[in-house]
Amino acid sequence: MSLQDLDDVILRAKKGGLKALVAVTEGGREFEKVINLSKVYPGFVFPCFGIHPLQGSAQDLHSVKIQDLEPFLPLFQKYKDDIVAVGEIGLDFTPWYAKTTQERDEQIEVFKKQLEISKELHLPVNVHSRSAAKVTIATMKEQGIRQALLHNFAGRPSVAMEGVHAGFCFSFPPAVTRNEQRAKLIKQIPLEHLCLETDSPALGSDKHVRNEPQNIILCCEYIAKVKGVSADRVMEVTTRNAFRLFTKLKV
Ligand SMILES: [Zn+2]
Repeated sequence: MSLQDLDDVILRAKKGGLKALVAVTEGGREFEKVINLSKVYPGFVFPCFGIHPLQGSAQDLHSVKIQDLEPFLPLFQKYKDDIVAVGEIGLDFTPWYAKTTQERDEQIEVFKKQLEISKELHLPVNVHSRSAAKVTIATMKEQGIRQALLHNFAGRPSVAMEGVHAGFCFSFPPAVTRNEQRAKLIKQIPLEHLCLETDSPALGSDKHVRNEPQNIILCCEYIAKVKGVSADRVMEVTTRNAFRLFTKLKV
């Protein structure tokens, strides 16, 4: 991504009405990149640190190990005043990535360690879960997590409701508009527990086109349609929810 491209993406996001943009990481090597981004776009791009349950790129994607987290622990401390959340963290038990019990246990270890950091630093968490909805929510509850956003959640509505009762929020990217699978879930989760996300550059409404923050309006319109309320109402409530959850967002 060139600097010009980046500038254009940010400009389009601002024109699209976004007030703030929470930038998550997947690996430790991205930590200083999001800090730099937040310095280039102060008051608009807000950084988070997290080690994703899957590490590496397309061909060598693998289940996370504690060694993927440990070298970066000092950075959480160093930048504790700058980051607004711990994420993206979570569990991904997709069978071909987390084949063994050992791999799944290591994911849980890395997840728990980062949940602990979030408590220590009084920060909310941004959580990924795939094929692991129940364990993810159970782990968070067991660790006493209160402020959490579960992104692109795809578990059963009954499991999502356990999260709602624990006070968690849920966000859905533009990709959910591609099919009706997630409609039942969105219908069930109260609007007071929903936020908007794009997960850009992934999970756009068109698989083959790069997703960007300005597309957040597509999620807003979709949720409005599914819930039978106006897009303005969804925008207003989800914005309020986001500011309640990410308490350090100052715009
Ligand atoms: Zn994710």
